Amino acid sequence: MRDTNVTVIGAGPYGLSAAAFLRAAGIETRVFGEAMAFWKNQMPAGMFLRSNWKASHIADPEKKVTLDAYRVSTGNQVSVPIPLEQFAQYGLWYQSQMVPDVERCSVTNIDIGDRGFNVTLGCGEVFASRRVVLATGIGSFAWRPEEFAGLPPALASHCSEHSDLGRFKGQRVVVIGGGQSALESAALLHESAAEVEVIVRETALNWVGVHYRLHHLGPISWLLYSDRDVGPAGLSRLVSVPRLFRVLPREVQNRAAYRSIRPAVAGWLRPRLPGVRITLGRKVVSATSLASTLRLGLSDGTDRLVDHVLLATGYRVDTSKCEFLPQRLRSRLQTMNGYPVLKRGLESSIAGLHFLGKPAAWSFGPLLGFVSGTEFAAKELVRSISRGDGARRNG
Ligand SMILES: Cc1cc2nc3c(=O)[nH]c(=O)nc-3n(C[C@H](O)[C@H](O)[C@H](O)COP(=O)(O)OP(=O)(O)OC[C@H]3O[C@@H](n4cnc5c(N)ncnc54)[C@H](O)[C@@H]3O)c2cc1C
Repeated sequence: MRDTNVTVIGAGPYGLSAAAFLRAAGIETRVFGEAMAFWKNQMPAGMFLRSNWKASHIADPEKKVTLDAYRVSTGNQVSVPIPLEQFAQYGLWYQSQMVPDVERCSVTNIDIGDRGFNVTLGCGEVFASRRVVLATGIGSFAWRPEEFAGLPPALASHCSEHSDLGRFKGQRVVVIGGGQSALESAALLHESAAEVEVIVRETALNWVGVHYRLHHLGPISWLLYSDRDVGPAGLSRLVSVPRLFRVLPREVQNRAAYRSIRPAVAGWLRPRLPGVRITLGRKVVSATSLASTLRLGLSDGTDRLVDHVLLATGYRVDTSKCEFLPQRLRSRLQTMNGYPVLKRGLESSIAGLHFLGKPAAWSFGPLLGFVSGTEFAAKELVRSISRGDGARRNG
């Protein structure tokens, strides 16, 4: 049993970056999780990051473990757009440089204790921590629309359940969704010799990165777009300042967030889509399992007989799905639409319990759902902890 000041749960970009900044500030920290696990196991091989180069560095206090430094120091190639596998390797290198002692162990329970929190590990250890930082990502928030509830995994699965879409070779697959994940999965399925159709609710796809000229207008482009690469022209600047986002009226926040993260597809994917059937403005209204196949009924009255339906239907943050938070703690957590409501320092209504990454997006905006939000999150966290915010006890 080794008590600590701060426990960071999660070793993805947010957890690693937070740990690096905390330690640089002299704050004793233990970090748990499997480094870059989501990127290695819950995204299909062959994918590319939609974020651009500048927005894909995992933040560190001295800017010395950037993607550029990784390339120079290891001699490894990193192409653009950045392949998922290369980004995951970069993340592992970052971890080896900045947080070499990540404890590859899962946290199974967090509860309020005499000295802050009691943290229980899968291996049975229980220790006290003054603060807990949750950076557990979106993996447990995969969203399955109710039409597909109850279907066996052999017939319906969420994108996050696959690291290799090659297993669908020769099969008829329908992909549900109109965002990057749906269209890129469809391209990968097509390239793996599956017969694929994408069904999109909206009547048109939204393309991003296609306004080439707007990005090459010198100072005007600078005014329109932040390096963080989240959101369209103009809004990109607004959402790159999470502290400003947090104090805007809710209605403005909602609009800015929706416009910044609505389903959209990177322009560079276009040349890979001609062989993919894309059906726009249609919705699946029923899904019936027929032994080893599936009949999908569409809103236009037609149907499809397929071997599998792949749900690229995104993620919905819902803190009630955080199994390591006992009911006693969850009932004290102030939430809105499943998101924790956070104050300065990304601290929740439970003093000393902080949320980083996508769960922080309700309060601090869409930037927190992307790697480029790691700098803000880590600095904000360290500033607040150094000042001793929220150090009062939870009764
Ligand atoms: C298909 C797809 C494409 C994306 N493309 C981009 C992109 O191009 N650019 C971008 O910026 N973002 C992209 N994202 C978003 C991306 O997921 C986030 O930016 C990023 O993963 C956030 O990192 P994180 O540290 O919050 O979580 P993750 O990287 O998911 O890390 C979660 C960590 O928590 C650990 N963990 C979870 N539960 C426990 C537990 N109980 N105990 C211990 N450890 C635990 C895991 O082991 C892991 O280490 C994409 C997402 C998807 C789904």
